[in-house]
Amino acid sequence: MAKNTLDNTFSRRTLLATLATSAAGVAIADTSLAGTRVPTSAAQINRWDITTDVLIAGSGAGGISAAIEARRAGAEVLVVEKLNKLGGSSAMSGGVVYAGGGTALQKALGYEDTVEAMYHYIAGAGRKHPHLDKIELYCEESVAHFDWLVENGVPYNKLFNGAKGLGFNEASLYYSGSEQAWPWRDQYPPVPRGHVPWEKGHQGGRKLMESLLMSAHKLGVKSLKRVAGERLIVESDGRVVGMIADVNGERKTIRAKRGIVLACGGFIHNRDMVKLYAPELYDCSAPWANAGDLGMGIQMGMGLVRPRYEWIKALLFALFIRLKIR
Ligand SMILES: Cc1cc2nc3c(=O)[nH]c(=O)nc-3n(C[C@H](O)[C@H](O)[C@H](O)COP(=O)(O)OP(=O)(O)OC[C@H]3O[C@@H](n4cnc5c(N)ncnc54)[C@H](O)[C@@H]3O)c2cc1C
Repeated sequence: MAKNTLDNTFSRRTLLATLATSAAGVAIADTSLAGTRVPTSAAQINRWDITTDVLIAGSGAGGISAAIEARRAGAEVLVVEKLNKLGGSSAMSGGVVYAGGGTALQKALGYEDTVEAMYHYIAGAGRKHPHLDKIELYCEESVAHFDWLVENGVPYNKLFNGAKGLGFNEASLYYSGSEQAWPWRDQYPPVPRGHVPWEKGHQGGRKLMESLLMSAHKLGVKSLKRVAGERLIVESDGRVVGMIADVNGERKTIRAKRGIVLACGGFIHNRDMVKLYAPELYDCSAPWANAGDLGMGIQMGMGLVRPRYEWIKALLFALFIRLKIR
């Protein structure tokens, strides 16, 4: 009897410790990761308004490329876009794709490039401590990426532009990097790698997105505008099964039977996130990107990872307290 009372006391203490530390853990997650969007439990959802196989949030190059591949793999695909125009920052961009290692366009214009030369240039010319494994993969897949763009209807003109920077003519290949400058030019023969869709002026991004959106549409990808993903919906085992979205001002639930892709762009228009994660850009007077770059996709993704980690820490801490009490 006495032991039971003691055990009960320990249980209560442990429970209190667990609750206190768990609450602290969640609080840490909320304050240290600005705007984290904690997911909603599927148990709270009593109705699905829309159902699809694969749900993609964001209609820029990332989202539409994922949509094309998911559709080719046989899934029913729905792309939701926060704004009332598809294309994101990708459509505002120059559309320059840094590609090399011997793309069809490089070859057609008489330039010999290798994966090795491309890898050494990016690894050396980028920031300190680059992610070498990612650079390696990017370079190895570069020829295939370029072919993929062409397969999906992005036009390239067999014309080289020798001017410094992105030209206003209709050339599709130019030096978008510093390959011709020392020390890079001494290591490997300089090769142009800036691939620009065939379009006058600086409208390559618009052409890129028109082409990819057309390809997605032909394949049967569905899209909805003015639909903003707000929160992910997760099962108790952690599986992401849907999303709560603002659909023209109304809150709706979207079920994704086979997966969700968050491709909502960056966060340059979210002042709090810029201050916290990119303070060097905070004073920039002209944040230049699509108005939808509010970091919502990143916040939804952060909501999945961090709080669970904090709960594990909290539980371990509670266990530690329990052992100390014993
Ligand atoms: C002027 C300019 C020129 C550039 N030029 C180049 C270039 O030549 N080459 C290059 O490599 N890079 C360039 N960049 C950078 C490049 O455009 C971006 O890195 C790239 O477009 C990002 O693609 P994305 O698909 O991740 O995002 P985006 O193209 O921005 O698409 C994200 C989409 O998600 C939508 N969205 C946001 N939140 C939600 C939500 N909650 N629910 C649903 N939808 C949401 C947004 O409205 C947007 O349409 C340029 C950028 C700018 C601004």
